[in-house]
Amino acid sequence: VLDLPPDEVRRLGHQVVDAYVEHLERLREAPPISTAPRALLDAVLREPVPEEPGDPAAAIDLLVREVLPHVQHGDHPRFFARVPSPSNPVAPLADALAAGFNAFAGSWAGGSGPAAVELLVLDWLRALLGLSASVSGILLSGGSVSSLTALATARAERGGHVVWVSDQTHASVLRAARVLGLEPRVLPSDGAFRLPPEAIPDEPGGCAVVATAGTTNTGAVDPLAELGALCRERGLWLHVDGAYGAPAAMAGALDGLEHADSLAVDPHKWLFVNYECGALLVREPAALHRTFAMAPEYLRDVLGDEVDFRDRGPQLSRGSRALKLWLSLKTFGAAAYRAAIARSIALAERAEAQLREQGFEIVTPAQLAIVTFAAPDAEALAAAMLADGYALPSTTVLRGRTVLRLCTLNPRTTDAEIDATVARLAALARPR
Ligand SMILES: *Cc1c(COP(=O)(O)O)cnc(C)c1O
Repeated sequence: VLDLPPDEVRRLGHQVVDAYVEHLERLREAPPISTAPRALLDAVLREPVPEEPGDPAAAIDLLVREVLPHVQHGDHPRFFARVPSPSNPVAPLADALAAGFNAFAGSWAGGSGPAAVELLVLDWLRALLGLSASVSGILLSGGSVSSLTALATARAERGGHVVWVSDQTHASVLRAARVLGLEPRVLPSDGAFRLPPEAIPDEPGGCAVVATAGTTNTGAVDPLAELGALCRERGLWLHVDGAYGAPAAMAGALDGLEHADSLAVDPHKWLFVNYECGALLVREPAALHRTFAMAPEYLRDVLGDEVDFRDRGPQLSRGSRALKLWLSLKTFGAAAYRAAIARSIALAERAEAQLREQGFEIVTPAQLAIVTFAAPDAEALAAAMLADGYALPSTTVLRGRTVLRLCTLNPRTTDAEIDATVARLAALARPR
């Protein structure tokens, strides 16, 4: 029961790989997002629990034809909405291997191979980001859980209950504070959408300051050195949310990350691996251990002196998110990563120049890889671009004003695609 002959599994595996590669080959011609109505998806999917065996090849085909096309293709070269996930062709292959071997990465005894790779890629990350040799951490699902894990650690290490953030801090940080019973205090950002250190009052009950290195709205970077000095002086924990922006440090476009007690960075955004992969790096990994370690009687056989990742975060059973990051860096190398990040930044600068040329008002200039701009009816223009299907910007609200936004993380985007996107925006913005 619950088994298939090896040859059939091999055939199905080849079917999966062929579908994956075909998807990559055709991605550029498809629209960057497709959202199907629930009724349409239900019509092709809904059925009672299958009682009898079915044909897995037909079922895989159904996934490929009817399910997987209806996603936002964060790796599409003209997906400029929110924060893209450019990924790369080999990362999903390592993910498939990790899944195929059902790799466990919760303890050294139960997964020493994947744990060694995770320790290695965490070392690589801290080296790439210019952090000190003591820094290590854990791979998690993404920025949301990284910040949740960081704030839990901050509370355990520093006490207090107040977390200082700005009005540009990502909503996941506010949610993390809420879940943990911490009290977020939201300070107005300055004229450049940064958290002003002088606005943080010196009062009892403080736990942490959350700075953002690359806000989701505008790409703004909070003054990390000043915030670091303030936190050291007052005994507060400095968490830096670099989920999107931290990799800019690899291209020399960002500094001050070394001031963080903890740093969230999302490899599934600007470090070019597929979902899910977030990283939490901490100055003192022992702080994670003090917060999360457990040693119940049923784990006696897998307690040891090596790093057990279950003791560095909230998960016990966990798969390996390290393999895809390892294979990506082994395949392409750090130099290609640096060039790719520099390219993303240059694309946003090109978009800004093109937008100016087409007469758009720039609301915030290209920062890291985000430019925001105004249109008489930003929401209508975003809707028109969605209907048009060539490229996808998104909207956001800055100081009460709805603006358009391009986030150009994908190094495979061509200059011509940026120009054509802006030309499309200009054509659709003109009242008919
Ligand atoms: C994307 C993002 C997050 C949330 O990360 P997830 O990986 O989606 O959980 C948090 N902060 C910033 C600045 C982000 O851009």
